[in-house]
Amino acid sequence: MAKLAKLDDIVSLCKRRGFIFQSSEIYGGLASCYDYGPLGVELKRNVRAAWWKTVVQMRDDVVGLDCSILMHPMVWKSSGHADKFADLVTVCKKCNTRSRVDHLAGHPEEHAGHVSIETAQADAQNLDKKACPSCGAVGKFSEPMAFKLMFETQMGANVDDTMTLFLRPETAQGIFANFKNVLDSTRVKIPFGIAQIGKAFRNEVTTKAFIFRTREFEQAELEFFCEPGTDEKWYEHWKQMRFDWYIDLGIKKANLRFREHDPDELAHYAKACVDVEYKFPFGSGDWQELEGIANRTDYDLRQHQRGMRSMNDWYENDRDLGKIDLKEEAEDYHKGPLSFFDEQKKQRYIPYVIEPSAGIDRSTLAFLVDAYDEEEVKGETRNLLRFHPALAPTKAAVFPLVKKDGMPEIAQKIYADLKGGFNCFYDQKGAIGRRYRRQDEAGTPYCITVDGQTKDDNTVTVRQRDSMQQERIAIDQVKTYLREKLDL
Ligand code: ATP
Repeated sequence: MAKLAKLDDIVSLCKRRGFIFQSSEIYGGLASCYDYGPLGVELKRNVRAAWWKTVVQMRDDVVGLDCSILMHPMVWKSSGHADKFADLVTVCKKCNTRSRVDHLAGHPEEHAGHVSIETAQADAQNLDKKACPSCGAVGKFSEPMAFKLMFETQMGANVDDTMTLFLRPETAQGIFANFKNVLDSTRVKIPFGIAQIGKAFRNEVTTKAFIFRTREFEQAELEFFCEPGTDEKWYEHWKQMRFDWYIDLGIKKANLRFREHDPDELAHYAKACVDVEYKFPFGSGDWQELEGIANRTDYDLRQHQRGMRSMNDWYENDRDLGKIDLKEEAEDYHKGPLSFFDEQKKQRYIPYVIEPSAGIDRSTLAFLVDAYDEEEVKGETRNLLRFHPALAPTKAAVFPLVKKDGMPEIAQKIYADLKGGFNCFYDQKGAIGRRYRRQDEAGTPYCITVDGQTKDDNTVTVRQRDSMQQERIAIDQVKTYLREKLDL
């Protein structure tokens, strides 16, 4: 039975073994910013690669994109982020702790996304009944204030002509802004999706729990464009696909669930939204959002059409657009620049969008927590990470049993042969038992050891991380063996 990991165990293992460090630690650290160390960077690369493989590579109906972080300010105006992307914050007058109004007890904590200031203000009416999460004082809150979530930066060297830009708070808008480019430059036809993985930045009011909520993080988002009327079917499709992705990569079913949003929780444009939640080990064990899947209707493309129209010169110079009345209430609004023409049905419409939006750092934390285990072996505690082979930072470690009798030379040769295909590690220092334990803690699925018998019959031992069982195989079979076992 796997041990239920405590967050402190994970944080300490991550530091000890070089998965994750506090950012700028030599200067006392920077709150809520983290750096991925040698093992962490491999783990995170594997999480990204696994997402890309399932969502893009294995599908014929999804293409990829990599947009810049800085975008035209109109993108955020049209998307609504520039005006609405703020949290309402209040300070406890007793202990001075700052909290998000929508995170206070009594409210469906953590489940609400970032809401409009108006919605949050309506929420703030009940502050006299809410308790401070830090000192427990009830109703001792200051007047709520809006807290801008987007980081600003300046573009341009001269003070006079600098332009204020935002660091993107989500990757999705870059996809909408490129919808027409992708449509015009590829052979995609609806239904199809555009996927992107990249950094996003939010000036979060409260950060918490290690890499769960940080101010700089990575998102993996898919915007799947479909014909209105088929959206509910695609919503169900992506719900299942995304749930299965976590399970296929080893997350225990008991730790994963869906939480469908209530109608009054939904953004005004969203038709449906569900969170994939993971049972994170915060406090008593909390169900928290890992990923959100939303039916965003045609809202985003419509908003960008509206934004384009407001930049008059853009559409007046466009021959085709000159003929179309882009007012939203106009009959041919759906024929605007971000519409799609269905050749078969001879119909033009603005597609609906299903958006699965995942966090790479948050899922990396979930994979770490879920893989963590401790067990008693011969009176000693064995710490291990039971990673799925696709996620394991190192796939195989190669050891000579001792540093003599030609064993290091043979082991080096095996290592050189393997490392072109998988991420491998060579180690000849210390007792073999300790070397195995170090690899268990790093989550390495296989250890290959060259010993006294190797010289006689050209075989090595292969030790399996989870069962600690060993078997002998011929040196010339090692690569094939690993390829099969690792499914690479
Ligand atoms: P929350 O309510 O937790 O702030 P949200 O509903 O605003 O999140 P989305 O905008 O739906 O989050 O973002 C999609 C995904 O991006 C989340 O499910 C999460 O995995 C990840 N994510 C969002 N904000 C952060 C953050 N501050 N740190 C790490 N990951 C994040």
